[in-house]
Amino acid sequence: MRVNLLCHAARAIIRALVKLRVIAHGGESEQGEERSGKGSGICHALPASPFFLPESPQLFCLKMSTESLQAVRGMNDILPEEAERWLWFESVVREWLHSYGYRNIRMPLVEPTALFKRAIGEVTDIVEKEMYSFEDALNGDQLTLRPEGTASCVRAVLQHNLLYNAPQRLYYSGQMFRHERPQKGRYRQFHQVGVEALGFAGPDIDAEQILMCARLWKLLGIRDVALQLNTLGDSASRMQHRVKLIAYFEQHTALLDAEATRRLYTNPLRILDSKNPAMQELIAGAPKLMDELDSDAIAHFAAVQQTLTEHGIAFEINPRLVRGLDYYNRTVFEWVTTRLGAQGTICAGGRYDGLIEQIGGKPAPATGFAMGVERLLALLQDDGVDFPRETMDVYVVHQGALAAPFAHQIAEQLRDANLRVVLHCGGGSFKSQMKKADASGANFAVVIGDDEVQANQVTVKPLRGGEQLRVAREALAGMMRA
Ligand code: ATP
Ligand code: MG
Repeated sequence: MRVNLLCHAARAIIRALVKLRVIAHGGESEQGEERSGKGSGICHALPASPFFLPESPQLFCLKMSTESLQAVRGMNDILPEEAERWLWFESVVREWLHSYGYRNIRMPLVEPTALFKRAIGEVTDIVEKEMYSFEDALNGDQLTLRPEGTASCVRAVLQHNLLYNAPQRLYYSGQMFRHERPQKGRYRQFHQVGVEALGFAGPDIDAEQILMCARLWKLLGIRDVALQLNTLGDSASRMQHRVKLIAYFEQHTALLDAEATRRLYTNPLRILDSKNPAMQELIAGAPKLMDELDSDAIAHFAAVQQTLTEHGIAFEINPRLVRGLDYYNRTVFEWVTTRLGAQGTICAGGRYDGLIEQIGGKPAPATGFAMGVERLLALLQDDGVDFPRETMDVYVVHQGALAAPFAHQIAEQLRDANLRVVLHCGGGSFKSQMKKADASGANFAVVIGDDEVQANQVTVKPLRGGEQLRVAREALAGMMRA
């Protein structure tokens, strides 16, 4: 309570000072524009001002503000214990991607809003209600935190002309942002691994991408995921289907819910994706896109299925699989588990031959997919899949004025020999340091007192059984590696 009062008082003083312009405004903003401070807390508005307080105002402000600051709802910290699983996952995924010839690409987290509107489609869940879009207060640009990676990846490929003389197999991983209702397996910041093959037209690459996924599930030890497959045909068939769908639903407008009514003329295909039980009978009787496909699309789809069958990959054809983004055509697929509740799709993708042209490039075919990392990791945990943990080799324990610099040298010498070493920092008795050495998980403690320094030796104490011994400094690394 008292701290709160103090905090309020400090804020009031700071506000008054800012108003009186006692604190000089620091930092030039982009293009020489003035910082508006719009949307920023008082801490952001405070420049470093050495005459105001003996310590920096930012630090002062932080100390005074005792309201507990929490991560944004739906955006999670990944703490060290859990991060180990992420690191293992990422290393398996990287090896797997490289084994198929995919190369890494890294795009910014923020893109012009227009990119996603154009690529994903104005009448989609993502663009209509899930995007973190904002105006850059410094220059008025309309920006969006990326809700998915395909649009950014294609933008980067076009901007840097990567398709100039060869098709590209690319992958990326990282945070995506969607303003959804947070629940298990659904977050506002989540992570995807995205895989895109640009410039490939045939069904071979579609099939290979699905085979890739199946291999990854094996590598990770994931069981019980089912493959759902569909084809969305090409734009002419989709137009024909659209006309028929609208006509069909127009005959039954009384049975449409609000969402479907809204989508009737903008995105009728998405009505087929409705989860509303009251509309299922109506949807079941709707005209099928399959009936409109042309022979090329049929042959493409058949070839994908054939390769999958040849490789023993089971799949189910789900004519209602339409995907939530506008850019897909022909092959679409989802890998689904029943074990994550409603958030059962762990990986989804398909062909998107029109997208490159749609965002300003020369027409080129493409296909890709994205995996939800949180959902995959949840599944792994659910399955009890274990993973190799990071271990330390050595914990260096030391006491005495001569021992401290010697310990630093020993630690560096061991790291030169590619060993993982924790140097005890912060003093304390030998006994308490040894407790920390034990808890570190290291295999050895290297113990250094002033007498060891004088003899140019160290004491090595195996922490997982074995006799302790004195070792000459030069022989240490060799002994540890043996
Ligand atoms: P959903 O139907 O679950 O909303 P989506 O079709 O919107 O998924 P995509 O855009 O295809 O999802 O993204 C690919 C994958 O990314 C999904 O299959 C899922 O595993 C993951 N994903 C999507 N949205 C989220 C989210 N909000 N939180 C966690 N993972 C997500
Ligand atoms: Mg979604």
